[in-house]
Amino acid sequence: MVTLLEVIIVIAVAWGLAARSASTWAWSGVIGAYLLVWPSLHGISAWALTPVWLVFIPVAAVLGLPVLRRRVVSLPVLKLFKKLMPSVSDTEREALEAGSTWWEADLFSGSPDWRKLLDYDKPELNADEKAFIDGPVNELCRMIDDWKITEDLHDLPEPVWDFLKQQCFFGMIIPKRYGGLEFTAYGHSSVVMKIASRSITAAVTTMVPNSLGPAQLLLHYGTEEQKNYYLPRLASGEEIPCFALTGPEAGSDAAAMPDHGVVCRQIFNGEKTLGIRLNWEKRYITLGPVATVLGLAFKLYDPDHLISEQEERGITLALIPTDTPGIDIGNRHFPLNQAFMNGPNRGKDVFIPMDWIIGGQARIGEGWRMLMESLADGRSISLPALSTGAGKLASRASGAYAAVRKQFKTPIGKFEGISEVLGRIAGNAYAMDAARGLTTLAVDSGEKPSVASAIVKYHLTERMRRVIDDAMDIHGGRGICMGPRNYLARVYQAIPISITVEGANILTRSLIIFGQGAIRCHPYLLKEMEAAQTGNVTAFDRALFDHIKLLCSNLARASFHGLTRARFAQAPVDREEARYYRHLTRLSAAFAVTAESALLTLGGELKRKESLSGRLGDVLSLMYLASAALKRFADQGRQTADRPLLEWAVRDALYQAQQKLFEVYDNLPSRVLGRVLKWVLFPYSASYRAPDDALLQRAANVVLRWGSARERLTDGLFISDDDDDPLNQLEVALERATAAQPALSNLRNAMRNGQLEAGDPELCLIEAVSAGVIDEREAAQVRAAVAARQRVIGVDEFPGDYWKEKNSSWQRNPTHSQQAGQSTS
Ligand SMILES: Cc1cc2nc3c(=O)[nH]c(=O)nc-3n(C[C@H](O)[C@H](O)[C@H](O)COP(=O)(O)OP(=O)(O)OC[C@H]3O[C@@H](n4cnc5c(N)ncnc54)[C@H](O)[C@@H]3O)c2cc1C
Repeated sequence: MVTLLEVIIVIAVAWGLAARSASTWAWSGVIGAYLLVWPSLHGISAWALTPVWLVFIPVAAVLGLPVLRRRVVSLPVLKLFKKLMPSVSDTEREALEAGSTWWEADLFSGSPDWRKLLDYDKPELNADEKAFIDGPVNELCRMIDDWKITEDLHDLPEPVWDFLKQQCFFGMIIPKRYGGLEFTAYGHSSVVMKIASRSITAAVTTMVPNSLGPAQLLLHYGTEEQKNYYLPRLASGEEIPCFALTGPEAGSDAAAMPDHGVVCRQIFNGEKTLGIRLNWEKRYITLGPVATVLGLAFKLYDPDHLISEQEERGITLALIPTDTPGIDIGNRHFPLNQAFMNGPNRGKDVFIPMDWIIGGQARIGEGWRMLMESLADGRSISLPALSTGAGKLASRASGAYAAVRKQFKTPIGKFEGISEVLGRIAGNAYAMDAARGLTTLAVDSGEKPSVASAIVKYHLTERMRRVIDDAMDIHGGRGICMGPRNYLARVYQAIPISITVEGANILTRSLIIFGQGAIRCHPYLLKEMEAAQTGNVTAFDRALFDHIKLLCSNLARASFHGLTRARFAQAPVDREEARYYRHLTRLSAAFAVTAESALLTLGGELKRKESLSGRLGDVLSLMYLASAALKRFADQGRQTADRPLLEWAVRDALYQAQQKLFEVYDNLPSRVLGRVLKWVLFPYSASYRAPDDALLQRAANVVLRWGSARERLTDGLFISDDDDDPLNQLEVALERATAAQPALSNLRNAMRNGQLEAGDPELCLIEAVSAGVIDEREAAQVRAAVAARQRVIGVDEFPGDYWKEKNSSWQRNPTHSQQAGQSTS
């Protein structure tokens, strides 16, 4: 009889071997030893196990001897693998192979090395960047009147354009030797974030020349001549660049562009020149209407074989001065009331010489790879920075507003319903800023983090949508009535722009994060695919068996951590937050097993199962955001006051990741597999709960009052020192409300005791002073707090004929700008 103890020992040994990724020989040795002692353990003849040995020995030999294993196992599996592999087009392959992986690959592997995460540098500004942000960036923010820009001018004012050019805002990624600022990714991101907190129009105008476009492409692929000519001109703003990829028929599927060029000879500058005749139609191109140089993506054909035998030469990129004959550029789109320059452009039989191709003729047909390789930098920086700016704005403004706005004689921040929303805003802003910082570290260390950049692009813009929606709800009508006093409405309007550009979000979630992540981050999948493609059985065999060992190890570890609630998982610290590292280790192992199961059972079909792929991508992303929050907490010296924000960020991520995994189990085509995975990986069903009310209240308190945690959370936000600026007024109102607190509480107590009667506030104050409840100084504090509150709750109002007047004055003089908005409470 097999005893319970024996079963436990067998399972424990198997678990241990799997968890340690034991070799096939170690497995065979242990199984062989067990078979040897089995007869004496159970009092049977050794010959009774002959049939078992007859199976075991050949299996062990095949698996243990690579020569046999390759023939008997790996070769048939390779053939099957080839059949299961999804069909991948050249452009898809180039997109999948572009860039590199970083911390997200650790999370994908099932056993993240937390020490490595904590040992990465801290995201910090260098002296030049700090001086630039404290100087020109603040100056720029002071110059900006976003209402005037978006309502009246529909453009940045001339002095702002000049300032941007003079101060080299368009040259942040350009090296100093070309006259640029040569900022780090973190410095660049911090500049965009600060400007975004003042004006989305100004932020987009600044970020586009520094993102994927002419400067970046030239830096990586340009010829020396192109670099020496264009980079100094781009850095100084002498040239305004744009990059045109999208067209009416080619949006998300940009590689489907019909725009084309044909190699030909034509007279150019009086000489017969080898070049390209181009025809294109592009739209949505940012800075297009004012660009002096257009980066263009098109498909190149050589029907007359002037440069090669090949007719279709593939996607190619060129830099074209916008005054080249045949170009129609200058019209504008009107993207959601933002005033940054954006518009269509078209080319009809535009002739360009060959040396306008970025990188020259050697780079013909490499355009798609160049774009995909360069995408990660900008995607890691621009929109994550803009979204984080919005998160900080929402936190600081909503907290102060909720502290001073009173309803039912109480600051609304004291109501549980508001603190629930406020806590969520603050927690999200913390996670967003942490992920922004972490991802710029990858760029600064020379990585091209294709998956991490997709994670932050998608999740930070989605969280921006969430926090701005929440901030609007807290502000009520104050957030809705537009005018110069409204600091939220234009950000609210701009959200769908961030969601759509640089990889529209639904596509990014459904196809990129897990789709690319599975191939780039998985330790063996890409190796297996490459080996299968080239038919290299030896490489395939090695990758396959390492892959199987990893799967066994993750399965053993994930089920063990599930059973023991991650108590024995590794953590790099022994402090209070150690449990979060442990839970994330457990989640990472559970995710790895789930991802493998989906890949194994669905194969290439997973590409079409976008909802499943999207949820798996969400789990990877949530672990990334939670680990970013833990790193930030450690980097900032484990500040106790920040703990509610850290706890919210991690607990929310753990809970949401768990729910997403449950949704995966419920939606796997094999219900049985789904149930087994849930049972093995989450034996107690749900392990994590959403952040509770008490935690939300603690997180809300961080932004409801002055304090170091509030300052750290909103660091890098622009707050004007202008007395008329609505954000400055909020700051003042919060400061005065805080100063008046003791006096107000004395007044409340006196009213409760019947010492004072409620009524006209001014009379009440006079009476309170004469009754000795408060002194004159305190009465003045209360009056100042009330006056400051009245200023911040005021909204803009316009004369009844404002729009009529505006229309007729526009008809009289289209450059006329209207005087808008006066405040009213
Ligand atoms: C304000 C603004 C500025 C821009 N600036 C530039 C610029 O400077 N240069 C430039 O070249 N382009 C620019 N773009 C274009 C931008 O990159 C595209 O808008 C974007 O690629 C999406 O294309 P589309 O708008 O045609 O949407 P579509 O491609 O029509 O997509 C519509 C929806 O379908 C979803 N979708 C598409 N395919 C899939 C799929 N396989 N699975 C799941 N969902 C899918 C998308 O996520 C989206 O939600 C800009 C766009 C805007 C609005």
